[in-house]
Amino acid sequence: MPIDTVLDRVREGDEDPHCELCGGLLKTATISFGQPLVAADMDRALEESRLCDVCLAVGSTLSVWPAAGVPVEAIRHGGRLVIINEGVTDLDGMASLILSGKAGTVMTELAAGLLGAEDSR
Ligand SMILES: [Zn+2]
Repeated sequence: MPIDTVLDRVREGDEDPHCELCGGLLKTATISFGQPLVAADMDRALEESRLCDVCLAVGSTLSVWPAAGVPVEAIRHGGRLVIINEGVTDLDGMASLILSGKAGTVMTELAAGLLGAEDSR
């Protein structure tokens, strides 16, 4: 269901919204450890990775497959890999650039830097 519907329920006092049909806990469309990836999503990620100029890997050790195959596929097809992570990753040796630090901090600085660069053009 749309996230706004669930957020409305939270705003109305339902602290832990569950599915009205099956009673399961409602959560965003994320994949947790041990859950299978959606094949169509994985196919689309690999497809896009073959077309990209830069693959930005954020907050991942890039050690879990098949998701770690996305940046590898980008590099194989001429793209560059930029890694933003606190700590080493399995693909550091393949990266064109590594921005070491917490994803939230680095991404905030990166966005501010890019917006600043745009302003000074
Ligand atoms: Zn349900």
